[in-house]
Amino acid sequence: MNATILIIEDEAAIRRFVRPTLAAHGYDLIEAEDAAHGLVLAAERLPDVVLLDLGLPDSDGLDVLAQLREWTHVPIIILSARDQEKDKVAALDAGADDYLTKPFGVSELLARLRVALRHAAQTQAGTPEPIFQTGELRVDLARRHVYIKDQEVHLTPIEYRLLTELVRHAGKVLTHRHLLREVWGSSYSGESHYLRVHMGGLRRKIEENSARPCYLLTEPGIGYRLAIE
Ligand code: CA
Repeated sequence: MNATILIIEDEAAIRRFVRPTLAAHGYDLIEAEDAAHGLVLAAERLPDVVLLDLGLPDSDGLDVLAQLREWTHVPIIILSARDQEKDKVAALDAGADDYLTKPFGVSELLARLRVALRHAAQTQAGTPEPIFQTGELRVDLARRHVYIKDQEVHLTPIEYRLLTELVRHAGKVLTHRHLLREVWGSSYSGESHYLRVHMGGLRRKIEENSARPCYLLTEPGIGYRLAIE
């Protein structure tokens, strides 16, 4: 069965761009031009992924997000303009799964959809893979071992928690606040320098060139993402 994607976006140009792309890759697309219609379609059609514009004519995308999160865990990918950094972070902290900055390309859109659908499937199955692998990085979550090119890497407890939080959400962007809260605890959510220091340590152990990381990617102004193949 094809996955159904709901796009809630008032810009016709974006919908026109997304329509043939998704059709060509076997997705069913349903479209809403405003928040009210989008909320109705989400409830009636139960899409597998929602693409949600933050700037809608009848309501703030953040309000739509909050209303959806009252009853559904459906992956929500935010569509935002370049000058909406703050809103993007707020949306991710409020339960959005990912974001695309307009204008975005076909391969970026498809990659984000694949990640979202994969996570949804894993969440439903309820059993995360005990061994995570991407490129030369392998994390044995059951035995708490990390390998690069089959060589074991020794991490500090904080580095390991940071890495496994990214592994659990592989491919998705996690905000600074999310990582601080999950790794250090809620009272540390403002201590971004902790994150920078330990991310630096983790990169030096995992990346071939920590100045040009290929696993632990920086999302400027937002957070970090673990790249997946
Ligand atoms: Ca808009």
